[in-house]
Amino acid sequence: MVQIYSVQKGGLIDLELIEKTESEWKAILDPITFEVARRKGTEPPFTGRYHNCHDRGVYLCACCGTDLFLSEDKFDSGTGWPSFTKAVSEQNITIQVDHSGGMIRDEVLCALCGAHLGHVFNDGPPPGGLRFCMNSAALRLRKE
Ligand SMILES: [Zn+2]
Repeated sequence: MVQIYSVQKGGLIDLELIEKTESEWKAILDPITFEVARRKGTEPPFTGRYHNCHDRGVYLCACCGTDLFLSEDKFDSGTGWPSFTKAVSEQNITIQVDHSGGMIRDEVLCALCGAHLGHVFNDGPPPGGLRFCMNSAALRLRKE
């Protein structure tokens, strides 16, 4: 069991970790979401549905529906990927060191299902200074 913050409930809820095989995920996800979220891919910049989205709401994990980011924490980073200053809750994400691509980066994963979401960098705006650089394909916006 893990504790996940629910925006609708305004508090932590207990949930079972979601574990599926690669073929189970492939059967329920669209191809780009599967490639990004389950195989740690990166969508080409400026191609996703959310980099230039200004709708209000909560960005959920495209795989399992966990609340991940609020539209009010989204900012225009100019990178072509949806960017946020912080997550809904640190409970809802897992950060791990990623050595792929000849770089050392902090990878951001969904805490409930392990989906690859993107990376977090230290060049974001003040006061927090963080830039969560996410893939649109790994997110789904629940509009307000
Ligand atoms: Zn998830």
